[in-house]
Amino acid sequence: MMNRSYQLFRTCLTCSSLRSLVVLPQFTFSSAQLSSLAQLTQILDTELKGIRDAGTWKGERVIVSKQGPHIHVEGRKEGILNFCANNYLGLSSHPEVIKSAAKALEEYGAGLSSVRFICGTQNLHKSLETKLSKFHQREDAILYASCFDANAGIFEVLLTPEDAVLSDELNHASIIDGIRLCKANKYRYKHMDLNDLEDKLKEAQKHRLRLIATDGVFSMDGDISPLKDICDLADQYKALVFVDECHATGFMGPRGRGTDELLGVMDRVHIINSTLGKALGGAAGGYTTGPKVLIELLRQRSRPYLFSNTLPPAVVGSASKALDLLMESNVIAQTMADKTKRFRTKMTAAGFTLAGKDHPICPVMLGDARLASVMAEDMLERGIYVIGFSFPVVPKGKARIRVQISAAHSDQDIDQCVEAFIDVGRKYDVIS
Ligand code: PLP
Repeated sequence: MMNRSYQLFRTCLTCSSLRSLVVLPQFTFSSAQLSSLAQLTQILDTELKGIRDAGTWKGERVIVSKQGPHIHVEGRKEGILNFCANNYLGLSSHPEVIKSAAKALEEYGAGLSSVRFICGTQNLHKSLETKLSKFHQREDAILYASCFDANAGIFEVLLTPEDAVLSDELNHASIIDGIRLCKANKYRYKHMDLNDLEDKLKEAQKHRLRLIATDGVFSMDGDISPLKDICDLADQYKALVFVDECHATGFMGPRGRGTDELLGVMDRVHIINSTLGKALGGAAGGYTTGPKVLIELLRQRSRPYLFSNTLPPAVVGSASKALDLLMESNVIAQTMADKTKRFRTKMTAAGFTLAGKDHPICPVMLGDARLASVMAEDMLERGIYVIGFSFPVVPKGKARIRVQISAAHSDQDIDQCVEAFIDVGRKYDVIS
């Protein structure tokens, strides 16, 4: 049976007219293979049941339109208002961003079929790296396939067993994984707790280097890291500062440079990792920007950079245009701030409790997991797409609906969302 499938596959490959027509039969396994598969299936089924029983199953709604404030989803005729993407600046479907991606695709092809150091570097990759380092006012930048990769690839290169890393306990999973991969001494400080950080810094004085690692903005609560105080402690205890700016790049601070600009510490943060997959066009990709020597060493040693394919030209084209738009004018970044203020003010006036402050991640705090989930469903009935988060994504008893504002939402979109919340909030006695 396997041989027949293989022969059929070979025949299809050589006969292009058949290629799209023939449905290949499935492979069948021998009895020994079947018994291993049965064992695996039983283990995985138990695992899956555990996730379902714990109520932590993550479903995926299928979008059948472009990403944006107004989307269409499978199984629903009417469009819905989208309040749960990281499309902060509305650039994911911006006509100029799409045009730039299409131009790069046309001129440079679908992809490089290579890693950067073999034959995967095009002039457009170099020019995006230069643009990113200018945007952040740093010496150099290096692109990765994602910010997850940038975080996975930096700590191991930078830190040895002689060094120490001090990490906020609520840092993003990719920072946690990146730190796991390195051999430095690890200290986890309580979330945004400067006293605890100071205690850990004192303890870490015995090591060669100290690196403080924090998200600029924490995505579950929309809370902003106290970077100025962190930089003060870093000066006092001779530490380096690393910030993940995924939820800040493009819109935090007067020119959208990020949390470091907002808090006046651009010249005091040493290393920034961020994503092209959120505000900067939303396609994919991540990067590190910072001192030239560090970027040079990452190109030599960072495993996700060395052993993974180059970013596709269309992705580079879209991010590059998103940056151009941001560097030309502050209008989009400021629109974002106005929209966020409108939502937060109206929701608070209606009696809801919102976590965070001045950030487009607006968690509507509800406490109860079931309440968050049924309210999110009811919001969808009213044409508003928001998601309920509960344990283990957020601590027990802190369930919430996370609303994300985009510069592309109109005032009317925002008001419609608030009205739906008021309606649903009253139904479930969350507000009076
Ligand atoms: N860091 C933070 C704080 C994030 O929120 C995310 C994405 O969710 C990442 C890193 C990973 O970014 P990317 O999607 O580019 O891999």
